[in-house]
Amino acid sequence: HLDRIGEVDDHVHAFLNVDADGALAAAREVDAALADGQAPASPIAGVPLALKDVLTTQGLPTTCGSKTLENWIPPYDSTVTRKLREAGVPILGKTNMDEFAMGSSTENSAFGPTHNPWDHGRIPGGSGGGSAASLAAFEAPLAIGTDTGGSIRQPGAVTGTVGVKPTYGGVSRYGLVAFSSSLDQAGPCARTVLDAALLHEVIGGWDPLDSTSINAPVPPVVAAAREGLRGDLKGVKVGVVKEFSGEGYQAGVQRSFEGAVEQLTALGAEVVEVSCPNFVYALPAYYLIAPSEASSNLARFDAMRYGLRVADDGSHSAEEVMSATREAGFGPEVKRRIMLGTYALSSGYYDAYYGSAQKVRTLISRDFAAAFEKVDVLVSPTTPTTAFKIGERVDDPMAMYLADLCTIPANLAGNAAMSVPSGLSDEDGLPVGLQIMAPALADDRLYRVGAAYE
Ligand code: GLN
Repeated sequence: HLDRIGEVDDHVHAFLNVDADGALAAAREVDAALADGQAPASPIAGVPLALKDVLTTQGLPTTCGSKTLENWIPPYDSTVTRKLREAGVPILGKTNMDEFAMGSSTENSAFGPTHNPWDHGRIPGGSGGGSAASLAAFEAPLAIGTDTGGSIRQPGAVTGTVGVKPTYGGVSRYGLVAFSSSLDQAGPCARTVLDAALLHEVIGGWDPLDSTSINAPVPPVVAAAREGLRGDLKGVKVGVVKEFSGEGYQAGVQRSFEGAVEQLTALGAEVVEVSCPNFVYALPAYYLIAPSEASSNLARFDAMRYGLRVADDGSHSAEEVMSATREAGFGPEVKRRIMLGTYALSSGYYDAYYGSAQKVRTLISRDFAAAFEKVDVLVSPTTPTTAFKIGERVDDPMAMYLADLCTIPANLAGNAAMSVPSGLSDEDGLPVGLQIMAPALADDRLYRVGAAYE
């Protein structure tokens, strides 16, 4: 995999940093333990992985795709990083991402875009485009992403790979640099559903260092994937979300989705149409809640505690240093989100914006609850279009935001969701994703249905 990275990453740019020495040392340790007759530390011991650059790695730079953290080397590992190391998983390096995970194309990275391996002129999705592209380009067999509004699933869909947003609280956020704390969730990315399940069981579980982590066992996702691979979905009820079709959905995406629904039926599932009327308000609610939380979380980048500091020549006040550092360190999308969030939280507007968005969030959770009384999982296209061209949406934030139309409800409600490849669009030959959504703590249902389908 290191050789492959050397061959193709100049063109793909999935990685911001490659840690060849660290990865080889970890792999040698696994070899030595096996030679010594010890049992492998996990089923994926020795299988290398690409880690999104938003999770801290002790002694290795963690930039979050931002100039603000360009030279920051964390003094500690995130819980996900620690679990990977303990499981004997060599970490190949850190992957490119939209700055602070804000974006849908990886074009908001301060270090240049990642290219979709299917067509280098197109985006690999975002914010975790680097992780998804590393899988599609065969630079890594496993990767970690984070999903606040779709950043694991949408890149999975447009690169033809599998991406899972676990139940909120299912994977620790300790050491995951916060964007929107009530939505952020780390999860597995892979080329097959079973591979994702094996990784999910390694990174999941309760963590006393994250107060929002759930004190419950990891759902039996590997067993569920194996069950699904038998190709029988008899007794499984699947709901098609009525609201996620029609205008704005490419015909090729729509046809691929219809084909997926037919295949689920052929596998024995009972498929019905379900209405979730409040899902259409998920996008506007998200773009109030996520920027509000971001405006608070990003206040920590004050030019004193982490990373970049400019105008630090002794002739400026602390406030001037802070202001100049933020001006130089944050890109335009990050500034836009901070402005939006600060506005939505300001005293005269709080009830009208943030307060209303939180109410919509409750309505979306109720839509899910009502749907899951009737069906076991919900399905939709993961994203309305296939990979768009690099540059196409950079000057149009609203068009960029639409990429997450279908993925955001699961984040707002905190439940589990997966994107699994559903073939290539008959319009442009590019990958399309099928989204599967399950109730909180029922992540295993995603794996059963996803593995049967893929
Ligand atoms: N594209 C969405 C945004 O820009 C989601 C990002 C994410 O999931 N991190 O906020």
